[in-house]
Amino acid sequence: MPEQPLHLDQLVPIPPSKVGLAVLGDPIIHSISPQMHNAALSELSLHHGRFAHWKYDKIEVSPQRLSEALPRLADFGYRGLNLTIPHKVDVLPLLQQTDPQAALMGAVNTLSWEDGNWKGYNTDGIGLSRAVKEAFGRGLNEYRVMVLGAGGASRAAVAQCLLEGCEHLAIYNRSMGRAQKLIESLNDHGLAQELELLSQPCNPFGVRESNILIINATSVGLCLEDPSPLNLSIFPPGTCVYDMVYNPPKTRLLKQARDLNLSYSNGLGMLIGQAVRSLEIWTGENVSADAMAEAAHSFKN
Ligand code: NAP
Repeated sequence: MPEQPLHLDQLVPIPPSKVGLAVLGDPIIHSISPQMHNAALSELSLHHGRFAHWKYDKIEVSPQRLSEALPRLADFGYRGLNLTIPHKVDVLPLLQQTDPQAALMGAVNTLSWEDGNWKGYNTDGIGLSRAVKEAFGRGLNEYRVMVLGAGGASRAAVAQCLLEGCEHLAIYNRSMGRAQKLIESLNDHGLAQELELLSQPCNPFGVRESNILIINATSVGLCLEDPSPLNLSIFPPGTCVYDMVYNPPKTRLLKQARDLNLSYSNGLGMLIGQAVRSLEIWTGENVSADAMAEAAHSFKN
């Protein structure tokens, strides 16, 4: 049974000698962020004793109460927050400061209490970048990338690919209009690379291309019975497939990749990568992914 989340009305101030971190969402019960962050904090505290006084909670906050929650959490001693569904975009008007990546991605998944205000960051893109490198041994800029989806996760992926200088980027989404809007808003940021909008889930790169990376940033695959969002048999050998879904660990898309002998990975590495970067922002220390990965794997398996 997952641990029950805290509720806003039950919270009490944290003693001044301690520091609070938390993930906010609705629903939030299934989040494994507390296990991952608390494991990493325990490891950090072996080298830097002050982190023994840090703890990470999960707090259920409805969309209607986000604006009230943020100042209250700061008053109660919380200094770092992660945001998940449904807060990542809705938080933007509540913030006075966001870092350039979060502004480009139009979404915030990390808040840090800095100079008396919450500052917004987005670590999903860097989490994806680190996960792809670890899974397939190459950086995003070394691939021709096809991104499936046009929601928040897709936007983080596309923006990160652009920031890293990925030259050929194609996007397919079920609703063309949403993908069109994503492309237009990224173009407004003056990024030079070409973004190709696909009207069909096809192979835009050709069968001779050897550096193709497919990123599934749709929610297709979250349910075991979901179909694959793409027919992988039209892609050449050597194609790599990254599915942001990590639960279930092997979606239909990944099973198809396995059957075709393509390299593939689920989204657990991205989850770990974004968490590592958030903790680095809050602590100012280099955070190793090992403790987080161990906690995530033991919780998922
Ligand atoms: P979102 O904003 O709600 O976007 C959902 C996307 O999925 C949209 O592009 C939507 O297309 C598409 N979609 C939904 N149902 C579909 C269907 N039946 N057929 C085809 N397309 C469909 O969600 P999000 O925040 O971007 O998250 C997307 C996925 O990424 C989720 O599975 C989430 O768990 C995962 N994620 C993973 C990580 C990680 O760390 N691994 C981080 C963030 C997100 P339409 O526009 O046509 O509706």
